[in-house]
Formats: sequence, structure tokens, C-alpha cells
Amino acid sequence: MSEITRAAIEGATGEDLSSLPMPESYRAAFVRRQDIEMFDGMASEDKDPRTSLHVGDVALPELAPDEAYVLIMASSINFNTVWTSIFEPLPTFGFLDRLGKESVWGARHARDEHVVGSDGAGIVLKTGSAVRSWRPGDKVTMHCNYVDDQDPSAHDDSMLATNQRIWGFETNFGGLAEIAVVKANQLMPKPTHLSWEESAVNALCNSTSYRMLVSGNGARMTQGDKVLVWGATGGLGAFAVQYVLNGGGTPVGVVSSASKVGILNELGVDAVIDRKAAGYRFWSDEHTQDESEWRRLGKDIRGLVGDDPDIVFEHPGRQTMGASVFVAKRGGTIVTCAATSGYKIEYDNRHLWMKLKTIKGSHFANYREAWHANQLICEGKILPPLSAVYRLDEVGEAAYTVHRNLHEGKIGVLCAAPSEGLGIDDPALREKVGEDRLTIFRRHGA
Ligand code: NAP
Repeated sequence: MSEITRAAIEGATGEDLSSLPMPESYRAAFVRRQDIEMFDGMASEDKDPRTSLHVGDVALPELAPDEAYVLIMASSINFNTVWTSIFEPLPTFGFLDRLGKESVWGARHARDEHVVGSDGAGIVLKTGSAVRSWRPGDKVTMHCNYVDDQDPSAHDDSMLATNQRIWGFETNFGGLAEIAVVKANQLMPKPTHLSWEESAVNALCNSTSYRMLVSGNGARMTQGDKVLVWGATGGLGAFAVQYVLNGGGTPVGVVSSASKVGILNELGVDAVIDRKAAGYRFWSDEHTQDESEWRRLGKDIRGLVGDDPDIVFEHPGRQTMGASVFVAKRGGTIVTCAATSGYKIEYDNRHLWMKLKTIKGSHFANYREAWHANQLICEGKILPPLSAVYRLDEVGEAAYTVHRNLHEGKIGVLCAAPSEGLGIDDPALREKVGEDRLTIFRRHGA
């Protein structure tokens, strides 16, 4: 452990931290350029992140004026780390090389190791000369929208910027590491009532779900809306159902086990479909969808909530999109941010146009949306769905668990934090929110 890491963990003041030298290298989880062909010819599900994700020392890059070094106490596994580690749909080194050609500072990213991870919570160690709002010693969490603020297209809604990137996926120096390099405009306050690992698992999925459902840029959910949420205890779904409940809507959660049904019931979601138990077969073979199975899902939803969904919260993609377009209400919205089961989508367009439905694409969140979503975590209005915690040297195992859909909610990863449960600064707020509510996923988790 470096001197500065030890000092930060022991509670050194910001002034003390800024006077200490940064280490020349730091421990991080990374994939290697030399490995990008290692899974060629294998089926996706057989590609194993445990063989491609490495943990070791990497050189600390120089800090740009608009950046901060953050001691990462904890991070989390997002599906994008699974994509990076199985080199699908593309090896991420192409993203790093492109960024490397943009500027002197961008060139730092084009390395032969890609340090992954798009979430984190920790302590600011040092700030670049242009950083105004954050200081060494600040406890922070960070979102992953990486934008160039000198690009005119990055203003208004920064997610529309032509060179918008996801930190730790399309950039280097991500959060699954003891130190991360982030732009100052990625930083947000750490929730005071949460531990480091509870704080670290939210920003990516929480902000994405917020934009998809709540923001004016998404499906604009309103009170009374019925919302079908696929993967309702997964990373995105666990936040989505909470937004629907908080906003006066009725979530219909789809999951694949009795234990996940239990989680949703504890969260206050009464209308739940166990898709495994229901045994839907939307595809009768690789090329043919079965409309009668879409109809059966629609009937099941009506049976639970008396109507068709105003909004369908989509991300599984090819396996479910045909059904999602079919079951959405006349005039309803299918909001999608992903395609885990395949991105070549097929749906029956007659159901879309004749019933005046809308498919809305969504991707992460701008700073304002991420900040607002983080604020709701800070106020205890949205709960962190932390179900299990791994150490940094177990990152491959943690990513494997997510890749094989063996997890619930979010998986935390301890980076510089020596143990779980540290970092809670406001026990009174924690008590008010309720230990029982804060640990719903943990109690059901692996
Ligand atoms: P996750 O934690 O793995 O959860 C996904 C859930 O989807 C699983 O729990 C599973 O729930 C369900 N699911 C998986 N395959 C399915 C299928 N074939 N049919 C129906 N349900 C299925 O992942 P996540 O963090 O929620 O992310 C989901 C996807 O969104 C990933 O592809 C990720 O890369 C993407 N994503 C995109 C953005 C963005 O900004 N564009 C942000 C976050 C995530 P059950 O088995 O319980 O049904």
C-alpha cells in the first residue's frame, strides 16, 4: 500500500493528502491487448472473464488539469466490464486508440492494458489545476459520462455529444482499481449513510434507469403508469422498479427465480412474473417468433394489473423485443438501452404503427441526470441493490457471476477498502432509511 493510500484510509486531512507524493504505479484490474483473440470461435456464454481479467500494477498516468486522482475504496461490476473481458461485441482497445489520437491528454489512454470499471466510491487524493469544486479529502462517488466540454455538441444534453464516452469502457483508468483518474465533472457527493461498497454500486445503473424512466429525455413516466420491467432484480431493473414505485406507478417485474420474486415483494413490488416458471417461448426456433407467446405474456400482465403497460423497460434485446413491442399499450413507449441477448432485433411493425407506439433509445445519463439520481440515493429515497461483495483480486470471478446471470442486483468490489461496512458517516440517516431496507438484496444475495 502506498503512503498516500495508507494516509487516506487512516483519515488524513485533505491538506495532508495533497502534500504526499502519488505512487508511480497502482493495483488495477485490466484486460490485455495481446489477449483479444483468446476467445475466437467460442460461444459468448463460454467466454470466461476469469481468464481474461488480470489484477496487477499499472503505471499511474499524469493528471490533466481538469481531472482528479481518486482513491477507490470500492467499485462494482457492470455488464460493460463483462463485454470488455469477453472482447464483445468489439475489443475495447479500438476505443482507447481512437481517444489516443484526439489530444495529448487522450494519448495517455492508448495502452496495452485497459483498466476497466465504470463505477466507484472513494476519496479525492489530488486535483488538476483547473478543478474548482472538489478538493483532496472529499468523499465522492462518480458517474461514467466522459465528455469533452470544449465540444459544442456536448452542451445542452451531453449524451448527444459526438465524442461522448463511457469512462472505464471507452476510456482507460477505470474504477476497478485502487486509484482512478476521472474528470472533475464526473464527481458527485458520496451518500453519507452508506458504506463504501453500498455507495459504489449505484451511479451507472441508477443514472441509466433514471434517464430511461424519469427524465424528460426518457419515457417521462407519470403517476399511475404501469411499467413492465425486464430483469427487475438485475442492475438496471432494481433501480427501475424503485423509480416506478416512487413515482406513483405500478411496476410489473419480470424475473427468473422464486428468490428474485421474494426480493421484489420485499421492495414493495406486488405484480411479479417469474419468466422461468411461466416458460415463455417467444422464439420457436432461431428464426421464428411465436405471437401466441407474446399474447400469453400480455394476458399475464393484464391479469396482474388490469391493463397493458404504458412503458416497457427493455434491455434483454433480441429475446424479448418482439414481445415488448407487442404488449406495450396503444400509444405506449418501449424504452431500450441495451440488447444483452442480441442486438439484431425483430418485432412486428404493424403492432408499432397501428397502435401508435414509440421505441425510445436511451444511453447512460448526462451530469444533471446522474447528479439528481445520486441525490435520491443520498436522501435514502433509492436503495442500493448490493447483493454480494468481492475483493479486487476476485474481479474475474465477480464478472463471471454477472456474465452467467448468477447474481442479483449489483455486485460490489472492495478496492482500497480493507473490509466491508466502512465509510458510514451518518448512522442516524441510515437508521431512518432502515437497515432492513438497505440490506434487502444482501439478505437474498449470494
Ligand atoms: P444484469 O445485472 O445482468 O441484469 C440483467 C437482467 O436481465 C438479469 O438479471 C436477467 O433477469 C434479465 N435477463 C437476462 N437475459 C434475459 C433474457 N434473455 N430474457 C429476459 N430477461 C433477461 O445487467 P444490467 O446491469 O441490468 O444490464 C443489462 C444490460 O443493459 C446489459 O447488456 C448492459 O450492458 C446494458 N446497460 C446499458 C446501459 C446504457 O447506458 N446503455 C447502462 C447499463 C446497462 P432474470 O433472469 O431475473 O429475468
